[in-house]
Amino acid sequence: MTSPTPAASSFSSLPLSPAMQDNLQSLGYLSMTPIQAASLPLTLAGDDLIAQAKTGSGKTAAFALPMLHRLATASFAVQGMVMCPTRELADQVAQEIRRLARFEPNIKVLTLCGGATMRPQIESLAHGAHIVVGTPGRLMDHLERGTLNLEGLQTLVLDEADRMLDMGFHDDIVAVTRQCPKKRQTLLFSATYPEGIAKLSAQFLRAPKEVKVESHHDAAKIRQLWFEVASATRLDAVAQLLLHYRPASTIAFCNTKQQCRDLVEVLTAHGIEAIALHGDLEQRDRDQVLIQFANRSASVLVATDVAARGLDIAQLEAVINVDVTPDPEIHIHRIGRTGRGDAEGLALNLASMDEMGRVGNIELLQKRESKWQKLDELAPASKEPLQPPMVTIQILGGKKEKIRPGDVLGALTGDAGLQGSQIGKINVTDFHTYVAVERGIAGKAVSQLNTVKVKGKKVKARLLKDVLKDALKDARPDAAR
Ligand code: ADP
Ligand code: MG
Repeated sequence: MTSPTPAASSFSSLPLSPAMQDNLQSLGYLSMTPIQAASLPLTLAGDDLIAQAKTGSGKTAAFALPMLHRLATASFAVQGMVMCPTRELADQVAQEIRRLARFEPNIKVLTLCGGATMRPQIESLAHGAHIVVGTPGRLMDHLERGTLNLEGLQTLVLDEADRMLDMGFHDDIVAVTRQCPKKRQTLLFSATYPEGIAKLSAQFLRAPKEVKVESHHDAAKIRQLWFEVASATRLDAVAQLLLHYRPASTIAFCNTKQQCRDLVEVLTAHGIEAIALHGDLEQRDRDQVLIQFANRSASVLVATDVAARGLDIAQLEAVINVDVTPDPEIHIHRIGRTGRGDAEGLALNLASMDEMGRVGNIELLQKRESKWQKLDELAPASKEPLQPPMVTIQILGGKKEKIRPGDVLGALTGDAGLQGSQIGKINVTDFHTYVAVERGIAGKAVSQLNTVKVKGKKVKARLLKDVLKDALKDARPDAAR
């Protein structure tokens, strides 16, 4: 990507109406942010777009300006639609669009999110809206009831698309997008670019232009430290690293399955919530492991390289190389899982004397010298146990019961409920739904779920940890281990 020249980063270089230019000035938007400068010339010309940029980079204006530019205010058809992962984000986006739309007195922007009562939304829609901003589940509901008409839609935006996929909105996004007119502009914004995003865009975008402001896997942003260990104390050293650096989410790589199992046992004995991912797990157990780790309710995922292949987990604070890999390329791949987006990464490496040859190969490939530190200089940073920030709740009922993430989000955040920001990922599998909530509100969330109705029905919800404990107890003693 070539960087824009200074003149090109002025809004006045864009074909926007004078009224809109004036409004931008009055908002204090003096020059375009990099993502705006890269995307606005394309989107104003009508191109589909995939844009990747970090939070706070000004993405809303990047999609709102082309939407507003094309808007026919005299028509009261919905002409722009933005899908967002949560109510809070939808509210933020709607507010920003309203500010950008101030140059025209009559532009109506409506939010349509789960957790709010249907009737006022239906009434507002009946009065007419130019732009709707909402969560995929609720937009779907309106489409099913026929209260939202998209015949006049010109611009469709998927905002924070990776987070929407994380929250399990894939099927709703697909269903909503299928109901949009074929001839339209589609803009997809995402902080990361996992495989699911590539699939979505291949399915719904037309010859999209791609802009990316900010590189991932930036090795310079990864802090790499090496520690010499004796083989006998290697696994305890992992616990020592975790208790000192206290990362919220860590993948610990081992070279063998047996090492994975042993490490989980040692970490558990240190009070650290660790789960193993290795080739011997059944699909259902593998899913459950990944759900717990990706939603940040387990601190450490212990994995072999093979088992971790294809995993895309954002927000990984640290990678620990428990064993040094014989293949230096694999080392680069392992540590590239931390330090994505705008976060700094941390790679902690343990090496015994007989692994120093492998360390040398890694240095050669990275063209950088290893920084060594002494394990016995590390003290636990605090006496508190290392706890993951979230807790997983399991709900009986899933796809077969037609439960959607929006239903669960609605049940938790509905009247007098919890804040959307306290709720993490929602995964709906065939028979179960898993929702991550902040540790401090887990009890309240479980009782709320057991009291209110989800999808019009009473449901049973429990902490996943308790479910797993009981399963182990019920299993025949010889099957328990
Ligand atoms: P993102 O969606 O990328 O996280 P936002 O669109 O929410 O970012 O924008 C972040 C903040 O920056 C908002 O407060 C917005 O009003 C402001 N902003 C966006 N573009 C500009 C600009 N060109 N000049 C000044 N402020 C801007
Ligand atoms: Mg945004």
